[in-house]
Amino acid sequence: MKKFVYTFSEGSKEMKKLLGGKGANLSEMTNIGLSVPAGFTISTEACNEYYQNDKKLWKELVLEINNKLNELEKKSGKKFGGEINPMLVSVRSGAAVSMPGMMDTVLNLGLNDTTVKALCKATGSERFAYDSYRRFIQMFSDVVMGIPKYKFDRIMENLKKENHCEHDHELSLEHLKILINEYKTIYKKETGKYFPENTIDQLMLTIKAVFDSWNNQRAIVYREINDIPDEIGTAVNVQAMVFGNMGESSGTGVAFTRNPATGEQKIFGEFLMNAQGEDVVAGIRTPKSIESLKEIMPEIYKEFLKNCSILEAHYKDMQDIEFTIEKGKLYLLQTRTGKRTTKAAIRIAVDMVSEGIISKEEAILRIEPSSLTQLLHKNFEEKSLKNGKILTEGLAASPGAASGRVYFDSETLKEAGSGILVRLETSPEDIEGMYISDGILTVRGGMTSHAAVVARGIGKCCISGCGELSIDETKKEFTIDNQVIKEGDFISLDGSTGKVYLGEIKKKDLKLDENFQEFMSWVDEIKKLDVKANADTPHDCETAIKFGAEGVGLCRTEHMFFAEDKIWPVREMIIASDEEERKKPIQKLLELQKKDFEGIFRAMSGKPVTVRLLDPPLHEFLPKKKSEIEKLSVLTGRDVKTIENRVKTLEEINPMLGHRGCRLAITYPEIYEMQVKAVMLAAIQVKKEGVDVQPEIMIPLVTDANELSFLKERIITSIDDIFKNSDTKLKYKLGTMIEVPRACVTSDEIAKEAEFFSFGTNDLTQISYGFSRDDSNKFISDYKQKKIIDADPFQTIDKKGVGKLMQASILLAKKEKPSIQLGVCGEHGGDPKSIEFFHFIGLDYVSCSPYRIPVARLSLAQIEVKNNN
Ligand code: PEP
Ligand code: MG
Repeated sequence: MKKFVYTFSEGSKEMKKLLGGKGANLSEMTNIGLSVPAGFTISTEACNEYYQNDKKLWKELVLEINNKLNELEKKSGKKFGGEINPMLVSVRSGAAVSMPGMMDTVLNLGLNDTTVKALCKATGSERFAYDSYRRFIQMFSDVVMGIPKYKFDRIMENLKKENHCEHDHELSLEHLKILINEYKTIYKKETGKYFPENTIDQLMLTIKAVFDSWNNQRAIVYREINDIPDEIGTAVNVQAMVFGNMGESSGTGVAFTRNPATGEQKIFGEFLMNAQGEDVVAGIRTPKSIESLKEIMPEIYKEFLKNCSILEAHYKDMQDIEFTIEKGKLYLLQTRTGKRTTKAAIRIAVDMVSEGIISKEEAILRIEPSSLTQLLHKNFEEKSLKNGKILTEGLAASPGAASGRVYFDSETLKEAGSGILVRLETSPEDIEGMYISDGILTVRGGMTSHAAVVARGIGKCCISGCGELSIDETKKEFTIDNQVIKEGDFISLDGSTGKVYLGEIKKKDLKLDENFQEFMSWVDEIKKLDVKANADTPHDCETAIKFGAEGVGLCRTEHMFFAEDKIWPVREMIIASDEEERKKPIQKLLELQKKDFEGIFRAMSGKPVTVRLLDPPLHEFLPKKKSEIEKLSVLTGRDVKTIENRVKTLEEINPMLGHRGCRLAITYPEIYEMQVKAVMLAAIQVKKEGVDVQPEIMIPLVTDANELSFLKERIITSIDDIFKNSDTKLKYKLGTMIEVPRACVTSDEIAKEAEFFSFGTNDLTQISYGFSRDDSNKFISDYKQKKIIDADPFQTIDKKGVGKLMQASILLAKKEKPSIQLGVCGEHGGDPKSIEFFHFIGLDYVSCSPYRIPVARLSLAQIEVKNNN
């Protein structure tokens, strides 16, 4: 018979896939001799079997669970559902990949009207027993039966108000008994059944509910966002309860072995005395810092620190540990790799290398490439910050700066598309809103509250525990010191100080710290491919250099055309009726473009710069507004009607497949001639200033080698003219973009005419699929949901189709010209999964937006580390 249930002593940390992260780590902690309450894990395979079995628990599984329950009873000397000394259990979910707060947990399971009395006797505390019972009824009703939590909260709040109690623990035994009766009445009303007295029924229903929670909406969304496969399922951990709410010598807490926000090598955490686990995370009471445990229970504090060191040394990584103290005895309930900000992740990795715990290669594998973008975002400008009016201060839960409009619920924020999410406290239902938000502000909750943990994980700025703020959700406003902030008003958050400001505050670039620089120097030592930037202005180039660009792989010259000084000569050039008339605006443009290129060459100081000649259809530049048409009429001396007609003739039904790219230059070669002259004149000028230059000219949207040879001849003649007139010569390269399937399959012929290929995977994807890159987002999500495609092909390269075309192109090109240089400059150049593919098909470089350069560098280094192992 297949085994589905494992006692903690039967597992190990290597069994994550089968036992889930929580189960595997509980086993590991048990095996290394730490104080863990006994228990067992129902495997992820059981979860999958449950779904195959029409969501029913089967006979053999129930038997196996019962056997393990008997073992647990023997170990604890208590009886589940027993009339004397009853055993209570917790039931927790735990998938192989951590999904904090996404699935369900039930505590204090095993209580009913009989066992609660037995628990009173066994513990000598009636208050404790009844408090545990009311918690259990509420949790079971919410998690297992789906009765909304607020129905119970409302009763609790009313009772507290009537009896002038501020906190839950001030309620008397009589109050608790009233609560229990009222809770049961709700249960009966909502489910039509009595609350289950049979403890085995309680357990089996809860196990089912945990399996079901694998497919609740928030877990599905979390998996989709984090790319976690649906098939892996969750395990269920059943564990003997220990109680943090057994009076003043009991408590519960969460701690990280190093600071998860900064990476500082110092224990960091929070705890609450006389409380159960959920109280700390839910942020109902504001917890105390872990250091104050030293004063309250010095021995326990010492023991806890020792456990932290043991666990960190054992796992060789920063741990996030949950603990409970029951009547002066410490228990560990969970350990897992601690979630951290990227800044902390890098500091911890660099520190652990110098502490000799891990190697540089391991450090490189520790950082998720896309998380690096967190570090590259901006902080507030000091001057603007000084003038900012501070509204209030909370806990600096997740660093960064955010300015935006206030929204009080995720739905409205989602509609708005961006803003600051202001909540009493967040819950997993808010996850989508949190992802979209610029920052998160909560009234309740500490550094380990849901808002804080999620925000750090996704790199959002967050301030929690902002208790002075009073929210009125119906009016959609909050008040602070008589100042009312309404939905849609601007506020700013500084997640590094916890300060909340009124209005919008300007941001500045963030300085990259020494740990980042050191870490990235290891990355560069290992990676092989070059990483270049898609950069169109000197400013973009400066940013790109700061982030480690080894050149410009794509300078889209048309972006310069939209600048106010250039757009009018561009329009004049387009409106001109013949080459002669076109000469004047072209000359003007040449001078202006030359200046732009000079700036770029200076910023790149000697690194290669690939300039892509004009690509979009001409009508994109033409005026649309009446006033602009009138201005153009004055500038060109043509009447308004003629200009309107010219605009109309340039309109295309299908412009992305129309008169664009090199096709434009086949009709108007003088445009490309002007552009290459501007590039070369700028290069000569900058070279004269003593700065090295490496210009590369790139022709877009080629479909046939003949297009390239036609244009190449004219381009070379223009460049030779420049060299002759200036009595200088410069080395340069001439290449093409490969963005059309036909170019891929005729790459041998095209390679004869080109020194390099740069795959324009945006257009190559668009034309291969026949999906418009501008409109396909309307249906791509349906394709993903209906599992027709796994990922958006405009974000992650489609290896099966577009990738195959690239491979065919490379094969043909290399056969014709082994020395040809190959790169990619579509959006995929900054996507880690696509980069891995580009590495294996033999590209020499990737080019991406400046903010993705560190991501690309790290992705390439990780590929090398993985390949060398
Ligand atoms: C491409 O098509 O991949 C490309 C880089 O060019 P653009 O995005 O400018 O069309
Ligand atoms: Mg393109």
